[in-house]
Amino acid sequence: MTNSAEKMEFQSEAKQVLDLMIHSVYSNPDIFLRELISNASDALDKLRIENLSSDHESESIAPAQITVLTDKRRRTITVSDNGIGMSRDELVSFLGTIARSGTKEFIHAMREMSSGNGELIGQFGVGFYSSFIVAGRVTVETRRFGSDESWLWDSTGDGTYTIEPGLRAECGTDVTLYLRDRAESDEDSGADSKDYLSSWTLREIIKKYSDFVSHPIYLKDSDDKKDGEGGAPPEPVNSMKALWIRPEASVSDDEYKEFYRHITHDWEDPMERIVYKAEGTNEFHALLYIPSRPPFDLYYRDGAHGIQLYIRRVFIMSDCRDLIPEYLRFVRGVVDSEDLPLNVSREILQQDRQTAMIKRSLTRKVLDTLKKMKQERPEEYAKFWDKFGEVLKEGIISDAKNRESIMSLGLFSSSKSGRTSLESYVAAMNDGQKSIYYLSGAKSAVLADSPKLEAFSERGLDVLLLGDPVDEIWVAAASEFEGHPFVSASAADIEIEGGGQASSNRAEAKKLEESGFLSRVKEAVSGMDLGVKIEDVRLSSRLVDSPATFVQKGDAISPQMRNFFKSMGQDAPPEQRVLEINPAHPLIQKIASRVEEHVDEPGNIGEWAALITGLASIADGEVVANGRDFTHTIEKLLL
Ligand code: ADP
Repeated sequence: MTNSAEKMEFQSEAKQVLDLMIHSVYSNPDIFLRELISNASDALDKLRIENLSSDHESESIAPAQITVLTDKRRRTITVSDNGIGMSRDELVSFLGTIARSGTKEFIHAMREMSSGNGELIGQFGVGFYSSFIVAGRVTVETRRFGSDESWLWDSTGDGTYTIEPGLRAECGTDVTLYLRDRAESDEDSGADSKDYLSSWTLREIIKKYSDFVSHPIYLKDSDDKKDGEGGAPPEPVNSMKALWIRPEASVSDDEYKEFYRHITHDWEDPMERIVYKAEGTNEFHALLYIPSRPPFDLYYRDGAHGIQLYIRRVFIMSDCRDLIPEYLRFVRGVVDSEDLPLNVSREILQQDRQTAMIKRSLTRKVLDTLKKMKQERPEEYAKFWDKFGEVLKEGIISDAKNRESIMSLGLFSSSKSGRTSLESYVAAMNDGQKSIYYLSGAKSAVLADSPKLEAFSERGLDVLLLGDPVDEIWVAAASEFEGHPFVSASAADIEIEGGGQASSNRAEAKKLEESGFLSRVKEAVSGMDLGVKIEDVRLSSRLVDSPATFVQKGDAISPQMRNFFKSMGQDAPPEQRVLEINPAHPLIQKIASRVEEHVDEPGNIGEWAALITGLASIADGEVVANGRDFTHTIEKLLL
């Protein structure tokens, strides 16, 4: 460290990752090179984009290249690129901190895997920090495109790093790894440690992980003859063949997986890939992947979309939102158009007819692939649905054209069959049943216990339990599936179709009406302050085992849905609650006879009515409005 070097600390999460890199046992240390080459390749792409989009005339930039240089005497490997480089601030924030919120999860997963000391950690990589798997010290000398300053970053990964002025003359970055002693790493790793200074070893690793990288990767040793001193011009190690152009049969599974890692930085294999070529007036190639797990920013408004756009093999932009709809934003991959002009901008893409056509056909392709997965690999598909279903459902609302196909992809909890699709639901309908019954407004597990299901179970009818907040919105938007209307099981005026007759409680109902019990409860309830006004009290024909429940007059709107309306700055239609009482329920009958016995004590009825509404709230999975009074009344009833 020289006088001008400034010493700085890594952010705490970065420290944890570094610590894992240094002290965990890697079954596959080779990945450090894949990560560094991937960063170099990104830096070259970024330079091209910045140079194209900058206001001033595009500068002529040197041909892109990545060099892996070994020095056997110093025991170093240097990965160099002539890409965008980093400013001093960027060095601090990119290499000193970890911005990705997925990192916590990663640290956790790593810890889990490495617990039980000595166990080998697999294919994971956390970008740049992977260098510390093999290196005891790493330096980064870099110069930002457009800047006249160069910086040298230096660290042994022990919690601090230094930054001082560097000597790089052109834009780009050199990452130098000072390899740990083999003896030293052998001792605590046990993994077979390779000679990373051997050009044969490095060539193998580059071919395996980075063959498709679209910039040339050269391998050099400090002992090689200098360029221009005779000998053949150097050949790139990688073939640079765009994977998405090659016929699917000529690409191995591993190559596809490596490419996925390259573009996503995900350490898990994708769940599915789609290789597609569109011919005709609008020609393009697409290589798409469905990840095995959701990216951390899936629900962020500005979260990344996963499609990179190439035009005739030239990288144009990542995060291309116009090529895939919002509700498929988890799909990752590459689209390479033969017909779009090279100077296309985001603004042009938005209005472009060809882009719209590509988007339509990719959407169809992805939906078809999911359909096939659902039919052929139902178990795996169920996992997909658990992770991405909630996002896909947004498409039922926003993509009217593909609405039925997206609905067909859904898997929903249901009261009778556990889990069902809409198609199976319709196929299993009872004679005379036309509607698709559903309950919404709470988590599926709470809905499964709802008293509103009793009449349906008694008739052998299945009810969908729609527990996601987005469910109520798409059900309202779609209103039917294949001609079958969606009907809320909590609607006050529901007429339940199909199936055998439910148990009749007419006689009991008549008694409660005639004795005046119903009208007394109604009067008492109308004066109560329960937060939500109760519009009406009725004797229920839908309840079997429960004493009471709340149902909705008009459109059923749950508390979640109300909050949603509020957040959009809109007034939700007023809630119209109806209290339904089960006249045949022993508890209700007991209360009714108590009330009758004490008709001369008018204060009484208020307490009983509060008890009934409390029971309804509890049965609906809600909180009782006045818990203390409720408890007192129960005491009175029991003691
Ligand atoms: P990731 O690549 O997954 O974002 P890394 O830890 O590998 O994470 O790198 C962090 C950031 O550092 C990168 O996103 C990039 O902005 C910057 N970076 C790393 N290597 C280079 C490089 N060779 N040239 C320019 N920037 C780089």
